[in-house]
Amino acid sequence: MNNQFIPVNRPLLDGNEKKYLTQCIDTGWISSEGPFITELEEKMAARVNRKHGIALCNGSVALDLAMLALDLPKCSQVIMPTFTIISCAAAIIRAGLEPVVVDSDPLTWNMDVTKIEGKITPKTKAIMVVHIYGLPVNMNPIFELAQKYGLKIIEDAAEMHGQNCNGAPCGSFGDISTFSFYPNKHITTGEGGMVLTDNPLLAEKCRSLKNLCMKPERRFLHDELGFNFRMTNLQAAIGLAQLERLDEFVSKKRAMGKFYTEQLRDLITIQLPLQKTDYSENIYWVFGLILKPEVEFDAQEAIKRLAEKNIGTRPFFWCMHEQPVFKNMGLFKNEKYPVAENLARRGFYIPSGLAITTDEMNIVVNAVKEVLG
Ligand SMILES: *Cc1c(COP(=O)(O)O)cnc(C)c1O
Repeated sequence: MNNQFIPVNRPLLDGNEKKYLTQCIDTGWISSEGPFITELEEKMAARVNRKHGIALCNGSVALDLAMLALDLPKCSQVIMPTFTIISCAAAIIRAGLEPVVVDSDPLTWNMDVTKIEGKITPKTKAIMVVHIYGLPVNMNPIFELAQKYGLKIIEDAAEMHGQNCNGAPCGSFGDISTFSFYPNKHITTGEGGMVLTDNPLLAEKCRSLKNLCMKPERRFLHDELGFNFRMTNLQAAIGLAQLERLDEFVSKKRAMGKFYTEQLRDLITIQLPLQKTDYSENIYWVFGLILKPEVEFDAQEAIKRLAEKNIGTRPFFWCMHEQPVFKNMGLFKNEKYPVAENLARRGFYIPSGLAITTDEMNIVVNAVKEVLG
């Protein structure tokens, strides 16, 4: 029996993080005005072929700024997956818009792109693409729909640092894209996020909104209401050290995915993540498992049984159309999305952070086999 608890995620912080943090302290640059912020913005933008990057305090507000900056007509509809984090729908609603959700693909767990066109109405103005858990959404059909119906594209690449789709980097797609740097993402700043775009007007809007909409010519004078969504130099210092190692981190995640896949592929009670599609190869942001229909219990029970064996796990997202907060707003009335509902009830992920060791993965595999064998 394993006595040491294995957490679902531990980040790797053994590169230049300490060195750059020490520089912040030695120079006194600890606020959002330090030099590492611009450096991180430029290096992230270069990495994903974007012209502008705007560093922020987390990935959720990155979505908020993206939606506000696009400035779509009030009450327009934005199409998005039902299976995602609430930040996506919250950003749409806070911008005065209506989220319209789409079911998931049972194999990639991403928004089913074949179901988007049926949701388009004269009120539809944008598609929010969210890449889920390690495989990106195939962008080609999205580009076709956006072209055909004149729609904007928002790309939530929070889980996709270092990933590609049809050979182009995730975070480079559409009008505006976002990243998160939460500690379970491929690169972290503790808390942090970024908005990226090629459009200088959108970039300027985001820069203004993140900094209280201060007028450049007169500090403390405002034409509009903004926010303080700034990232600190301390966070950017960690982010720069992390970004230096992104390729190594992606390789490490893929090796983890390969190991788990090989060890668990004979277990007939679970569905594993797809290793690749014809447009990308999984980077395993997390290693998810879906309980097959013949398993008599659900993910909550599997999670409990694994916790008894000292294995940390997380349940999958809960669908947007089943959120009490949105039901109370009168949204998604009588809507059903069976694939996503099944993912939410029968999916969970096992320890898959960057600092995981082979010994730990072996312990996890044995525990999963005991619970689900
Ligand atoms: C993590 C995540 C976010 C939110 O990022 P935070 O930095 O935690 O606010 C948004 N979208 C997706 C898909 C995420 O995984």
